[in-house]
Amino acid sequence: MVISATRSDTGESLHATFASRYVRTCLPRFKMPAEAIPKDAAYQIINDELMLDGNPRLNLASFVTTWMEPECDKLIMASINKNYVDMDEYPVTTELQNRCVNMIAHLFHAPIGEEETAVGVGTVGSSEAIMLAGLAFKRKWQNKRKAEGKPHDKPNIVTGANVQVCWEKFARYFEVELKEVKLREGYYVMDPEKAVELVDENTICVAAILGSTLNGEFEDVKRLNDLLTAKNKETGWDTPIHVDAASGGFIAPFLNPELEWDFRLPLVKSINVSGHKYGLVYAGVGWVIWRRKDDLPEELIFHINYLGADQPTFTLNFSKGSSQIIAQYYQFIRLGFEGYKDIMENCMGNAKVLREGIENTGQFEIVSKESGVPLVAFALKDSSKYTVFDISENLRRFGWIVPAYTMPPDAERVAVLRVVIREDFSRSLAERLVADIQKVLHELEDHANKIAKIVNVSVQEKPAGTMVKKSVQEMEKDITKYWRKLVDRKKTSGVC
Ligand SMILES: *Cc1c(COP(=O)(O)O)cnc(C)c1O
Repeated sequence: MVISATRSDTGESLHATFASRYVRTCLPRFKMPAEAIPKDAAYQIINDELMLDGNPRLNLASFVTTWMEPECDKLIMASINKNYVDMDEYPVTTELQNRCVNMIAHLFHAPIGEEETAVGVGTVGSSEAIMLAGLAFKRKWQNKRKAEGKPHDKPNIVTGANVQVCWEKFARYFEVELKEVKLREGYYVMDPEKAVELVDENTICVAAILGSTLNGEFEDVKRLNDLLTAKNKETGWDTPIHVDAASGGFIAPFLNPELEWDFRLPLVKSINVSGHKYGLVYAGVGWVIWRRKDDLPEELIFHINYLGADQPTFTLNFSKGSSQIIAQYYQFIRLGFEGYKDIMENCMGNAKVLREGIENTGQFEIVSKESGVPLVAFALKDSSKYTVFDISENLRRFGWIVPAYTMPPDAERVAVLRVVIREDFSRSLAERLVADIQKVLHELEDHANKIAKIVNVSVQEKPAGTMVKKSVQEMEKDITKYWRKLVDRKKTSGVC
């Protein structure tokens, strides 16, 4: 969380460790210490405190890359002191960014002529990319409405209720109404028919997701394109499509090359993708690509004049590191198309092993698809004795971080666990995880049975004559209530 909160129960100072070797005095927790400490002491203190963080490799909640080759780590460390914005001083880094933009644009079938270069930019992640794409749509729509002499103060954007939180951020920060298509039980992505019904003259774009965060499913962008084309024809509007391919943008081109979701569809005007998800780079890089130059309003582009060289930029912040851009370029040339394809196929294979293992427990219903993003999302068939939140909590004991969350409206009665399969999640880890899930299930079952016995005894202990026979359902409710009291139930709602 960016905004830090001060907790009153945590005390004000950090305890000194290794007192005789390093520091004798306590360091204040929230105030800058008055004096310096030796560098090795600072290192030791921080290193030790960080031991309590989870292990990133076992963090199955995140799509974001946790492993890269040592050669790339070296390149990253070598460029850690380069500010990306100093384009004139680091022209090669700028050139590498441009190469990446063009490679991605070609991968997404942007209509680029022989002599042309692609239009796009490297960002901090898909969130910044989405802010920029959204701004471009908003500005284009406003310009058009102004030219037509029509009101331009109530822009809206149509998405599914399954959108990632950054779309809600975009809507709030940039004052655009978010019109969400509700989900339903058993269908967890945006229904293109309903989306197009929500489109009106104030809609700046429809945002489709290639790889829903909730269950990894690809939305049907082609169907959306067809329906929207028909509506545009009928109404005279020209509502465009943006594809949020944060996770799917580096999967579909390799595993489903025939799937039309990108610039092959005429209404798709911009696409974002996270370099730090299946682009296979550590956290801190995303990309946004526009179909053509005129899909990005000129007035949003800033021309930085560095020592006489014109450098057009369109980003939200000024300074940032260069390492991630260099790392992305490394992955592109190191792996090539074949390399990415192999990795994605491997991830899908591991997802399959995990899915089958989870299915074989007999306790879960799988809510992710066999295609899409390599992840397994699964719900308990019977939550009367324990819930997915209890399972998530108990898996932590083995070191696994597996989030549990409820689905958005109107499917909020469904609660799921989700395991994201990244490149570094091996088959043996998948097998291990299934075994640990099984252990947790047995323990929870055992515990629930013990509590059932206690509840039974307490019913029988009541004086004769007052005992009321409870229905099975009432009994189950009692047990769940009792059980919940024992377990501090925490919801993990913020999945990314
Ligand atoms: C992860 C994700 C985002 C946000 O991307 P960041 O790169 O983390 O900023 C947006 N949309 C979808 C579908 C995502 O999966």
